[in-house]
Amino acid sequence: MRIVIIGAGVVGLAAAHELLGAGHEVTIVESGDYGQGPSHGNAALVTGVLSFPVPAPGSIGIAARSVFGGNSAISITPQFSLDYLRFLLRMAWATKKSNFVVGTDAQDILTRMVLDGFAEYQEQGLNFEHHTGGSMHVFTSRQAYEQAVAVFDGFPELKKRIRLLEGASAVHEVDPNLAPDVEYAYFAPDDLQVEPDSVMKALVASIEQAGGKLIQHSPVISFETSDGVVRAAVTSQGPIEADQFIIAAGVGSRGLAKKLGYSLPLFPGGGYSVDVHFEDDSLKPAASVLTDVSHIAVTPLDWGLRASSGMIIGQPEPSVAPTVIDKLIAQVQEIYPDVPVDDVDPGWAGLRPMSADGVPIIGLVPGQRNAYLATGHAMLGLTYAPSTAKVLRALIEGDAPEDYRAFAPARFGAHA
Ligand SMILES: Cc1cc2nc3c(=O)[nH]c(=O)nc-3n(C[C@H](O)[C@H](O)[C@H](O)COP(=O)(O)OP(=O)(O)OC[C@H]3O[C@@H](n4cnc5c(N)ncnc54)[C@H](O)[C@@H]3O)c2cc1C
Repeated sequence: MRIVIIGAGVVGLAAAHELLGAGHEVTIVESGDYGQGPSHGNAALVTGVLSFPVPAPGSIGIAARSVFGGNSAISITPQFSLDYLRFLLRMAWATKKSNFVVGTDAQDILTRMVLDGFAEYQEQGLNFEHHTGGSMHVFTSRQAYEQAVAVFDGFPELKKRIRLLEGASAVHEVDPNLAPDVEYAYFAPDDLQVEPDSVMKALVASIEQAGGKLIQHSPVISFETSDGVVRAAVTSQGPIEADQFIIAAGVGSRGLAKKLGYSLPLFPGGGYSVDVHFEDDSLKPAASVLTDVSHIAVTPLDWGLRASSGMIIGQPEPSVAPTVIDKLIAQVQEIYPDVPVDDVDPGWAGLRPMSADGVPIIGLVPGQRNAYLATGHAMLGLTYAPSTAKVLRALIEGDAPEDYRAFAPARFGAHA
């Protein structure tokens, strides 16, 4: 089949790699350079554990309070649009405990494929920076630790994938560089660090080698359609015809879905990161670390570490002030007091594509027979890129198991 993929972030590139491997003819159309959105500066954590969607019980209350200031994992930028209001209401609905369970179970279908997906890349000879350090949620208070671990009690299969570390010696045995007051953690030993630029570069090399076409600087501006079938994606350089179309355009997916008559419940979730360079490996974090009080993620990479922030729902453009980066560095020093911070890059900001229920959106655009969405991966687009590619392939080839319906845009209703 001839397949056009719109968007060359990590999700679009992973889909292209998978579909080329299955013998399809693939063209990727990208408005700028490949891999420059959130796929570039993310926290580089690949997790086979964290299937919890962002809208969790209590999270909207936390986010709403953040509008009035505060230090929070999730915050909300006010915007005055009906679509945005509807999106926030859906998000609030998703935080209901029963809906959170449904979302977690859905997301776990993808999570269960994650580690095999990256192992497969290595078996296929893709050459990218990865480390097998695991990930750790760390806590200084027993109460906060117990509350976080209690979330796993409803998901025994997920709980089997973590190890509980209670007491400073248990925590520091895994990572001796953590601050002494970090006394509790849960540890996911199988999680990975994957440097996102290196994996995208490897995917592009493999796509080109397999005969795939990557057209950059060519935004898709509309579609030619008839009778619920997309005939061509119209780019700034003209139309491209195909049998199947995949919209993997990150936060740009909402505008493209609108061109096909579908109001996609997806808004940006802003975030930022900063790279700290140092050579002494003995000072690096042993794992990717997520903190409880400051809500940051810290990941060891070849050249030092990358630290990143929480989620700013509805942020219109990626932006981060130098003072915010200074604060992030100070938060890194709180948990890693010995990390040298004299070689720090300027900060970077990106917009994650965030679906209203926090679960990725993978499936046919309602009303269309050959146009798929592959977006809404929020905090976990790097993690879920290979799994999403497998789901897309099964959908396009017509042998998708029933449970993949959990990702269909139709779950929001035909017109959303
Ligand atoms: C601070 C931060 C930390 C993160 N940490 C992690 C992490 O540790 N682990 C993890 O798994 N995930 C993480 N994420 C999330 C992850 O980065 C995203 O979910 C992922 O990058 C989304 O990839 P994507 O390919 O869907 O979208 P994008 O990377 O946005 O790619 C979409 C592409 O589509 C192109 N495009 C848009 N419109 C058009 C158009 N009309 N025509 C043609 N092309 C178009 C864009 O230019 C872009 O290149 C983090 C994100 C942030 C911001």
